[in-house]
Amino acid sequence: MHQTAADRGTAQTSAAFGKFFLPGPTEVRAEVLDAMRGPMIGHRGSSMEELVARLQAGLKLVFRTERPVYISSSSATGLMEGALRNGARRKVLSLVNGAFSERFFHIARACGLDAVALEVPLGAGHTADMLESALRTGDYDTVTVVHSETSTGVLNPIAELCEVTHAAGDVLLLVDSVSGIAGVPVETDDWKIDFLLTGSQKALALPPGLAFGVAQESILRRAEGLPSRGVYFDFIEFEKNIRKNQTPNTPALSLFYALDAQLNNIMSETLEARWERHAAMARRTWEWVDWMSSSGYDLKMLAPDGFRSPTVSCIRLPDGAPKGTEVTRRMKARGFTIASGYGTLKDTTFRIGHMGDHTVDELNILLGELENVLAP
Ligand SMILES: *Cc1c(COP(=O)(O)O)cnc(C)c1O
Repeated sequence: MHQTAADRGTAQTSAAFGKFFLPGPTEVRAEVLDAMRGPMIGHRGSSMEELVARLQAGLKLVFRTERPVYISSSSATGLMEGALRNGARRKVLSLVNGAFSERFFHIARACGLDAVALEVPLGAGHTADMLESALRTGDYDTVTVVHSETSTGVLNPIAELCEVTHAAGDVLLLVDSVSGIAGVPVETDDWKIDFLLTGSQKALALPPGLAFGVAQESILRRAEGLPSRGVYFDFIEFEKNIRKNQTPNTPALSLFYALDAQLNNIMSETLEARWERHAAMARRTWEWVDWMSSSGYDLKMLAPDGFRSPTVSCIRLPDGAPKGTEVTRRMKARGFTIASGYGTLKDTTFRIGHMGDHTVDELNILLGELENVLAP
């Protein structure tokens, strides 16, 4: 018997849904995967413009913006680089508290910018006070920050960081909300985020391969004065094209179909209910960690109260416990996927991506299995 790729995908997804808790890519519903079987159409034709116009309407609601939402056929890292190439003049302050914020810093350097890292320990976040005093001492024109640091489960206070950045004068804030958007409240326009980016494969619960960005006038004005913006991530070109419901080059059309289907799902759930579902999954995880530790198995959330991401939890293992990689291996043997810690946290922590389309009920089953593998 010959199975098509689509048959296999559907079978796998419906059998497995609720078991794949990686903090990206996250699990994608079968119907969203099926939507990718739509026909090829020309990317300069009216069908494409109608599709992009429809996507824009949904994306603006998800991003809480009146601005157009760029759709980049790249992974999120592409728009991190784009943000710096279009936004940074010379001197960048990178708020670093984990692997992805470190990546933002690294990209700045690799683009030839004079970047300085304001680093806090893994598990910590950045406060407005920290940023305010750092901006006082330097002549920074740009700040990079990660909203939900997926490697540590830390949530940074973006609204406050935005305020402090703008109070410092002609400084732009570039925000990576890759594991934030669609799972954590983000008010792109109200908070006046100069540039915000995300990827398709985290809380949006789409397959990997698309990135989304919102550029305010502030960064577009900056971009006009920067001669080395490159080509693929030139925001002036993105802006010009999206205003005609087009993209600068051939888009990943099949993923656009998936996005179309998923935006409908998000709208029927409502964005607010989606945020609340993520908050409930996070609260359930914290309660479970407390309960485990009061029952004698000393688990701890890496992030302190007030800095915890609703979409991903990084949980510290006690001394003498199996290593993070062993925990993930044992879970895999039971059919569940979670992630071990990132980088130096690999052995001592594990991570649960409770984001996308997962529910508290599915999470409860996962936590039950975790109890079995941690304290057999
Ligand atoms: C996953 C992730 C990225 C990288 O996204 P890619 O799509 O792999 O380029 C960047 N930042 C954060 C916070 C992430 O979670």
